[in-house]
Amino acid sequence: MQAVNYARATDVDDAVRLLIEGGENARVLAGGTDLIVQARERKRNVDLLVDVKHVEEFMVLEFDTNTGLKVGAATPLYQVYGDNNVKINYPAIVDASTVIGGKAIQGRASLGGNLGNSSPAGDSLPAMIVLGGVATLAGPNGRREVPVGEFFTGPGRNILETGELIVYISFPPVGAGEGAAWERFIPRNEMDIAVASAGAWVKIEGGSVTDARIALGAVAATPLVANDAAEALIGRPLTDESISAAGDAASEIASPITDMRGSIKQRKHLAKVLTERTIRMAADRIR
Ligand SMILES: Cc1cc2nc3c(=O)[nH]c(=O)nc-3n(C[C@H](O)[C@H](O)[C@H](O)COP(=O)(O)OP(=O)(O)OC[C@H]3O[C@@H](n4cnc5c(N)ncnc54)[C@H](O)[C@@H]3O)c2cc1C
Repeated sequence: MQAVNYARATDVDDAVRLLIEGGENARVLAGGTDLIVQARERKRNVDLLVDVKHVEEFMVLEFDTNTGLKVGAATPLYQVYGDNNVKINYPAIVDASTVIGGKAIQGRASLGGNLGNSSPAGDSLPAMIVLGGVATLAGPNGRREVPVGEFFTGPGRNILETGELIVYISFPPVGAGEGAAWERFIPRNEMDIAVASAGAWVKIEGGSVTDARIALGAVAATPLVANDAAEALIGRPLTDESISAAGDAASEIASPITDMRGSIKQRKHLAKVLTERTIRMAADRIR
């Protein structure tokens, strides 16, 4: 482990100030389940940890039927998936956050940390994308809002600028006829990185899909927004044919690598299977 300084931010502006003063090796500390491991293994140079867990705005968990859900960037996963409003209205978040690590990890890890780590395989990322998640960022030039689907620029890389950090993630309210689901494939039951994952959100009105969002994980350099897969569903009743067309479109845009966890062929196949499965789960949840 490298020698690291630690600072506890007193508010959001203080966190921004500490990050700027700390320079390029200052990192936000949420649960530390990625960051501490990376620092210990010297995979990431860290001079300063800026702990945001004592600032209320980073730890919120608020739900309102009119405005939706607001999750602080450092709110621990166990609080998020344990919340009744999340369970009822945003089960895709529960699907993903209950499989991240194990119970001990979930007691510390956060959605903001999963975002900030920006792994293409981060489990909550496709779920947040299809739910229309928007990250509120704070930095030296004030605040801005960025859809989760536009946050990533490469493996472990994102649009955050110097001194900028995620404060919270917002999700729109859930309307009638809407449902969402997320699923991953791993060779074991737990404690592994996804070989592939998919999230689906559908809105069904008058027997037809009027809107949809599909996102994929671990099949490209970043989590993918699969617009063509969503287009295959929109404007028609949900049938075996339309679901299969969406799966084909998802497989088509997947551009995975072969590594110790899976091959290109397997991952492209999984993109189809998981897309089809999560669309069906999302529709079942409406019913
Ligand atoms: C045993 C084990 C199992 C795991 N299993 C899984 C798994 O199944 N699926 C999965 O997706 N992940 C898994 N992980 C990885 C990790 O737990 C998750 O990515 C988790 O969501 C990280 O959250 P955290 O709060 O601990 O982040 P931290 O480690 O505190 O931070 C992660 C990164 O994000 C940055 N960051 C944190 N908060 C902010 C912020 N507010 N603004 C800007 N940047 C920020 C940090 O600087 C750091 O670079 C596992 C880790 C371990 C150790």
